[in-house]
Order: sequence, then C-alpha cells, then structure tokens
Amino acid sequence: MIRAVYPGSFDPVTYGHLDVIRRSSRMFDEVTVCVMYNKDKRDSLFSVDERVKMLKDVTKDLPNIKVDAYYGLLIDYAAEIGAHVSIRGLRAVTDFEYELQIAQTNRLLSNGSIDTVFLTTSLEYAYLSSSSVKEIASFGGDISMCVPPEIEKLVRDKYAAGHAKH
Ligand code: ADP
Repeated sequence: MIRAVYPGSFDPVTYGHLDVIRRSSRMFDEVTVCVMYNKDKRDSLFSVDERVKMLKDVTKDLPNIKVDAYYGLLIDYAAEIGAHVSIRGLRAVTDFEYELQIAQTNRLLSNGSIDTVFLTTSLEYAYLSSSSVKEIASFGGDISMCVPPEIEKLVRDKYAAGHAKH
C-alpha cells in the first residue's frame, strides 16, 4: 500500500491542481490532498474549511483521494498518516529552485523518510496558479478556463461579497 500526500495552499483549487491529483491517483494506492496552513497567508481568499470542502467536492469521483488539513510541518503530517511520498507540481523553471529546496529540506528533516515526486504540469495548465485566478476574478475577468464551474461560482461570490483587493 503506497500512500502519498499532496500538500499545498489550494486557495482555490484549480484545473492545474486537479490534473496533478488525477495523475497521482493513478500512481499511488492512496493520495491525501492536504491543505497546509502553516504559511503566513493572511490574504487567503478562502478559509481552510472552505478549501477542504472545495477539494472534497471536485475529487468526489476519485475513490483513492482523501482530503485533509494540517497546521505544522509536512514531515510530521506524513509520519502521522504513514506516507513516504510528497507530491508537488512543476510548471516552469521558476518553480524549480523553490521546490528543490523544500524537497531537500523535507528529506533531511525526515531522516530520508520522505521523498518528493514531481509531476510536470500538463502544458495547457502551465500558466495557471491560484494567485492568477484571484487576480483575474478580482477585476471581474473570466476564470472559467482555470477552475471547475462550482469553484468559479464560489470565487465570484467571494468578490461579490466584498473581498476586493482594490
Ligand atoms: P503552495 O503555496 O504550497 O505552492 P499551491 O496550492 O499554490 O500551494 O500549489 C500546490 C502545488 O501544486 C505546488 O507544488 C505547485 O507547484 C503545484 N501547482 C500549482 N498550480 C499548478 C499547475 N497549474 N500545474 C501543475 N502544478 C501546479
């Protein structure tokens, strides 16, 4: 039984994340998508509970995908659930340096217990990030090519309710 964890902010989940989730669901017996909220992200659009709910909703057709949230270090979470693989996505070389540093640190901190597996983005999602989704939506732009319809509605509702950056 090979268990993996896919950690991230998922604020909100995009088609890019979903692509990584779908592909990793074919590679591992069980993948837990984990909303990590140790980062100082006071400008989050969605609460941790909202992000978990959205992820559960868009992965409900994938039986070996679980969704969770964790405050703390990835290596501690991975030890709790018995995962030895962390999944991360790579979009462009700009992601590489940052991701390499995290991967090395996690391997070191976990005494070699955690290895990181990188999935390169599908080209049609290479441009996509949660922050660009928020940027576009905050100006009333079209995000239908970036997120599933149910997520698009929730993002729109947030900005309609006054979560404007401007
Ligand atoms: P974090 O704040 O930890 O980077 P994100 O939710 O932004 O959290 O991203 C989680 C992971 O998903 C990261 O490894 C990121 O590189 C990857 N990712 C984000 N968008 C895409 C995409 N369009 N294609 C492939 N991987 C992606």
